Amino acid sequence: MGVREIVTERILRELESGNIPWNRPWTGAHNAVSSAEYRGINRLLLPTHKYTCNAWLTFNQCRDLGGWVKKDERGAIVVFYKRSEITITDDGDDETIGTGENVETGEKTTKNVFVLRYYTVFNVEQTTLDPAKYTTNNTIARDKTADEIYLNYDCPIKFQGSTASYSPGADVIYCPPVEHFKNTEGFYGTLFHEIAHSTGHKTRLNRNMSGSIGSASYAREELIAEIASAMILQSLGMTKTIENAAAYCRSWISVLQNDKNMIITASGQAEKAYQYVCGGAVVNA
Ligand SMILES: [Zn+2]
Repeated sequence: MGVREIVTERILRELESGNIPWNRPWTGAHNAVSSAEYRGINRLLLPTHKYTCNAWLTFNQCRDLGGWVKKDERGAIVVFYKRSEITITDDGDDETIGTGENVETGEKTTKNVFVLRYYTVFNVEQTTLDPAKYTTNNTIARDKTADEIYLNYDCPIKFQGSTASYSPGADVIYCPPVEHFKNTEGFYGTLFHEIAHSTGHKTRLNRNMSGSIGSASYAREELIAEIASAMILQSLGMTKTIENAAAYCRSWISVLQNDKNMIITASGQAEKAYQYVCGGAVVNA
C-alpha cells in the first residue's frame, strides 16, 4: 500500500469512529498574567501576525509587572461578556429595569445578564517588559528530514504570530514560532498543512484557490491541505496526528454534505501536493 492509500484509509476509519474534536497544537494568543487564551472573536481582533510573542496584557497589568507601554504603541481591543446581576420589576417585562420593585407586591426580583465589556491590550513586545519571559517557550524534538524539506521549499515562511495561514496573493506562509507548539507532530503537521496550500499557487500546481470561507471549493482545498500534510508526516514516520487530521477533515466535510467520498477525491490532489513538496527527498513509507 502506498502513502495515499494508508492515509486515506486511516482518515476514513477515524471518521467512522466518533467525534473527537480538533485540537489546535500550539498555544495561541493569551493573557500574560492569567495565561487564559483569547478565544472566538478575540482571536480575530488581535493583530497577532505582527508579533512573535504570543502574550498580551492591559496597561494596568503591564504597570503592575513593573513595565510600561512604549511611546506611540497602540493597543488592540478585546471583548468579554461579564455576568452581572440586575434587579427587575416583577411583571415579566425585562425592559423595566429600574426600581427593582413590583409596585403592587413590593417584591424584588434579580436576574443575571451578560454585559459586553471592552479592554485594550498590548502585546508584550509593545512594552518595556521582556517578551522572552512571557511568550510560550517549549522545546520540541526536531525531525532532520522534515526540516530539510521545508528549508528547501520555494515559498517564503514567516514564523510569527498566533495563527497559521497561507496568503495566495502574497505567496507567503505564516506559522507560529516552533516554541509555541506543544509537540513535534503538531508543529510539522501545521507547517506542512500551510505548505500544502501553497502548492496550489499558479506558479506551482495551479489549483483553484478562489473559494471563500464556507464555500465547497474552500472546504475541498482544506481537505487537500490536511490530507497532504498527513501524507508528508506519514512518509516521515510521524503518524500520531492522524486523529487530529480526521477531526479537521470532519469539520470540513460537513460543508460538503458529509460526503466521505470527498476524502477520496481530495486525496488524489493531496498526493500531487505531497509529491511536489517532498520530491525525491523522502524514503518510502
Ligand atoms: Zn488550511
